[in-house]
Amino acid sequence: MNHRADFRRVKRHRTYTVSELARVTGVHDHTVRVWIKAGLAVLSDARPILISGEEAKRFLAARRVARKRPCGPGRFYCFRCREPREPALGMADYIPFDDTIGNLSALCPVCSTVMNKRASLARLGVVAARMEVAFPMGRTRLNESSDPSLNRDFGKDR
Ligand SMILES: [Zn+2]
Repeated sequence: MNHRADFRRVKRHRTYTVSELARVTGVHDHTVRVWIKAGLAVLSDARPILISGEEAKRFLAARRVARKRPCGPGRFYCFRCREPREPALGMADYIPFDDTIGNLSALCPVCSTVMNKRASLARLGVVAARMEVAFPMGRTRLNESSDPSLNRDFGKDR
């Protein structure tokens, strides 16, 4: 599951379809779509979706840096800004993968890109001390002092 994308073979002055980029970096098409959701820019108006080699290299290099530089419990790495950011409005959604680990997602306060990171359920208390964590899958909120009227909709666009 942990494919390491090889972006050295991506050519800077070429454009790639999702499938072509998947092939050249050695990942599944699905992974490329996940990258797009995580901030890999596509060339606007193009159908099928096209990605410039330059952007793919930028994105994958930034992603590698992010893995080497943990942001700490209060921040996410924004692939668009290439900076660790605190979540917009101090809010994040937790989607469990299983009983022990899941994904936290939040919006970048600067560019509104969706930022994701893995988080273990055991560490969620540490995270929740720094932001309001919601459970769109239907668990009760960790942060009891949070205002339930703050209903947000940005958890949907995954
Ligand atoms: Zn950003």
